[in-house]
Amino acid sequence: MDEYQIPRERMVQRLRDHYKIQDEAVLEVMRRLPRHLFVPEALKAQAYKDNALPIAANQTISQPFIVARMTELLELSPKSRVLEIGAGSGYQTAILASLGARVYAIERIPILVQEAQERLRRFGYNNVTLRCADGTNGWELYSPFDGILVAAGGPAVPEPLLKQLKIGGRLVIPIGNDPKTQNLIRVTRAEKGFHREDFGACSFVPLIGEHGWQNN
Ligand code: SAH
Repeated sequence: MDEYQIPRERMVQRLRDHYKIQDEAVLEVMRRLPRHLFVPEALKAQAYKDNALPIAANQTISQPFIVARMTELLELSPKSRVLEIGAGSGYQTAILASLGARVYAIERIPILVQEAQERLRRFGYNNVTLRCADGTNGWELYSPFDGILVAAGGPAVPEPLLKQLKIGGRLVIPIGNDPKTQNLIRVTRAEKGFHREDFGACSFVPLIGEHGWQNN
């Protein structure tokens, strides 16, 4: 084990006791994955704190709780095919891959793609494909998906993502009327139409793209 094992165990305790995360598989991968290797060198000691942290290009690595909650809401099984939009540091990507999902991840900022790519390669995942693009268009080639996780907040659910969801599949995305505050929404595709649930207030960096906010 490593020097951050104790803070990592505490983080998982907090997810379980305070945030009521119940999915044991999610808790177990978060107990094992070294989050400190996904944050800037100078912030390593803060990696297991109960908040988001800055990464390159003015973006953030999401708060551990939000990573756990979004992953839990996807209700994955080991063979699930998942689309992740806003890979950022690659931490969420690694969590999904550790759960055994086949992960297709998209990030729009080249430097973040490059850094995440290197990290994921070092961990030896063979079930992750990461590319640099506007994720609001989804990734039609590998669709339909069992799960879609969007880690940036948009004004509405991007239409292409709904089209690329399997029947029975789940899409988890922060949606809000202004670029900084959102509600965490889960959309489940039914035989006919979509079922929408609201999991309360949250705060993500903006989803920028054709079916998101305009870049200005
Ligand atoms: N799960 C990541 C979250 C990073 S923050 C982590 O914990 O590290 C959200 C990311 O979404 C940012 O890196 C941002 O660049 C990216 N993003 C915003 N709009 C996007 C889009 N249209 N397509 C792909 N990535 C996008």
